[in-house]
Amino acid sequence: MSVTVVGSVNEDVLVAVDRLPGRGETVVGRSVTRAPGGKGANQAAAAGLLGPGVHMVGRVGEDAAGDRQLAALAGSRVNVSRVHRTPGLPTGTATIPVEEGSGENLIVVAPGANEALSPADVDVEPVHRADVLLLQLEVPLETVQAAATAAGGTVVLTPAPPRALPDGLLSRVDVLVPNEHELVQLAGAAPGDRTPAELAALARGLGVRAVVVTLGARGALVVPSGDGPALLQEALAVDAVDTTGAGDCFTGALAQGLAGGADLAGAVRYAVAAAALSTTGPGARGALPGDDDVRAVLD
Ligand code: ATP
Repeated sequence: MSVTVVGSVNEDVLVAVDRLPGRGETVVGRSVTRAPGGKGANQAAAAGLLGPGVHMVGRVGEDAAGDRQLAALAGSRVNVSRVHRTPGLPTGTATIPVEEGSGENLIVVAPGANEALSPADVDVEPVHRADVLLLQLEVPLETVQAAATAAGGTVVLTPAPPRALPDGLLSRVDVLVPNEHELVQLAGAAPGDRTPAELAALARGLGVRAVVVTLGARGALVVPSGDGPALLQEALAVDAVDTTGAGDCFTGALAQGLAGGADLAGAVRYAVAAAALSTTGPGARGALPGDDDVRAVLD
């Protein structure tokens, strides 16, 4: 049972502000909090806390932020032997002013060492041998493509942040996990509210084997390959405090479910429960559940 994540490792620098700055404006922050981040590392941490056998493949700088990110991943039971230190580049950083009261934010990402993750970095055993390989789009696309090609197991892609995908990538993906906005962008459709049946039709048009559309507090829509019916898995009702990173927890849990032998619907049931629990505390990694926590709410 093994899960490998190829993707970004960032440090999030959250600055509390009374109000967000406008263009050219300076506002004074109240406090600064550093938190582990990056879609790839968030997915790996979620998977690591849910079960054994999780590897991260990525790059950080030779700086203190890199030390902190490696320690955070290891503390979430993620094997970091393939997270390389990169001379001359800083660890990826997301600077995020957060408006107190509304919780609204702005995000500026400086990818730093993530941009140096190369196709050679992913031609490694944890990619070849993983039961499930998780990919996102915060590292160079040629590296994502190379990892999908080198994978020996099930390939799961989160198409975020939205980017035009290289030819042939989707044909190597077994399960695509977009949120509603990412699905609409990938399908080249107009923004707007859609019913589950309309979303399923868009998902089928992509030609991927299976698509799982995350729908926030509404749950997740499973669109299997072929003509099988789409299935809406309703969200678990919780008192959500902060939904940041719920999608990353969802995907990490989906991977552990699939690696453990569940079928897609069963893995989505597990992921919906894990992601709901992750919203009950602050930040992307503040409330990641363990396997026992998830099983307790599923039983
Ligand atoms: P993010 O970018 O913040 O990680 P996302 O847009 O990728 O989020 P969402 O669709 O918002 O992902 O959430 C992922 C999953 O988390 C949902 O499919 C759902 O199962 C769960 N979830 C999100 N918000 C809630 C909520 N308020 N209550 C219960 N479950 C939730």
